[in-house]
This record gives sequence, C-alpha cells and structure tokens, in this order.
Amino acid sequence: MNSTDEWYDVEAIGDGSYRIAEGVIFGSYLLVGDERALLIDSGAGVGDLRGLIDGLVDVPVTLLASHAHWDHVGNAAQFDDVVADERERDGDRLVPSGLAYGPADWVADWEAAGNSFPDGFDPRTFDVEPTTGVGTVSPGETIDIGGRELELFHVPGHSPGQLAVLDREAAVLYGADVVHNGHGLYVHFEGCDVRDYVNTFDRLIELRDDGGFETLYLSHARALAGDDLSLLEAFRDGLEAALDGELDYELIDEGVPVREYEIAGKTVLTKPDIG
Ligand SMILES: [Zn+2]
Repeated sequence: MNSTDEWYDVEAIGDGSYRIAEGVIFGSYLLVGDERALLIDSGAGVGDLRGLIDGLVDVPVTLLASHAHWDHVGNAAQFDDVVADERERDGDRLVPSGLAYGPADWVADWEAAGNSFPDGFDPRTFDVEPTTGVGTVSPGETIDIGGRELELFHVPGHSPGQLAVLDREAAVLYGADVVHNGHGLYVHFEGCDVRDYVNTFDRLIELRDDGGFETLYLSHARALAGDDLSLLEAFRDGLEAALDGELDYELIDEGVPVREYEIAGKTVLTKPDIG
C-alpha cells in the first residue's frame, strides 16, 4: 500500500454524505453543506485524513468527536476546528480514552491478519495523541452547515458525553457507537452506564417513532434500517432485564472480567457490576 487514498474507503451514502472507513472496523462520516462540512469522528489516525477530506470538499470543515475513545479521535489534531461535548473533554483537550483494546492491540491484530499500512506509517510507534483547543458543543444544539441543519442528541451509555447527529430532513441519525461492532453493545468500558443506555434507547425509540429517523448509521457496523431498528426495543428491554437480574450471562476475560449477555442474538458486554 503506498498512499493514504488506498488506506481509506470512501462511500457516498446520499444526501451529500460520505462514510469513510479504515482498517475494516473504523468508520467516520462527512456531511457536506453549502457553507461548511461536518466530519463526525476521525478514526484511528493512520492515514492522512485531512488530505483526504480536502480532496472531497472545498468548504471549511468542523470535526465533531462523537466521544473520546481513541478509535474516534485519531488525527483530530490535523483539524483546526474541533468540537466535542464537555463530558468527553478535559478542559479544552480531547484525551483519547485508553480502552482494554488499544492502538497496539489493533496494530498487532491487523498485521497478524496479513494486512499492511500506508507507506511512511510506523506501527511500532503508533499511538493516538491528545488534541488541544477543542471547543464545546452541547445536546439540543443545531449546527447549520448551509442548506442543511444538523441536530445534536445526547446518547450516553457507551460513553458519558456521546453525541449523535440527526439529519431530520434526510431522516438519518448518525449514532456513532450507540450500537457497536456486529450490532452488539459495548458497555464494559470506564464511563459506560447500563441505566443511561436504557434511557438512551427509550429516547431513540421515541425519536424514530416520531419520524425523526429511518436509518441509523454506525461507526463500527453497517447501518440499521427498517425492521432491524426493532433492535432498539430489544436492547432497551434486554438491558432492563439485566439490571433487574433477570437475564443470564457468562463472566468472560477481556483483559478485565466482563459480563457477556446475548440480547436478540447479539453480544452485549458489560462491567461485572452493572449497578
Ligand atoms: Zn466507543
């Protein structure tokens, strides 16, 4: 692999939006308006994301970090206008969260699977650095990017200040990690909260039923739409049952002890003490 263009996989998904995938499991979204573009997340930080974005749009770009997990804020420092919810920041700094599965783990898995990196990238020294000068956005805010209004929704549970972006006119919600890899849930990291997650699913169900969205785009999985959105009810009910002690689980080792539930055929990981 010799260029950053080969590293990223850019897909036009309609309504002036793009999904930018890298390393199979990381996904960012670029929403383009007449005056500005909103980039939701910046991925793992391996290729020249800024160069890629500059090749796609000729308007100023605001980077919204949906939350501060490392695989959403790589390369954030390449952008001069970066915003996030205050619960995901340390002052004006966006500090990548150290998850049980970190950059070094992913690099090792990626190479073990026989994959390569762009030229000039050194996997041995790879890490995701903090970004400074990060501004505030808050739930309830509407961002006007020119002919296109985007509403911010607070969707905690996976992360305390995680924000989803609603394009009401397109009936699309960009939900980041609200549903995770393989359409399961990751609720086993520091900052995760099962009860918050139940409330988040309640509010998403209400928003969907009010016609707010018909498609839910995700960072680590393909979109959910149509009948698949009934997963929202299944997860809400399943997490409530887990909180009430009415759902069986297995205690597994993910570097730390983790509860593994199965809800609607999907894997849901929580901390051993789910409160
Ligand atoms: Zn995350």
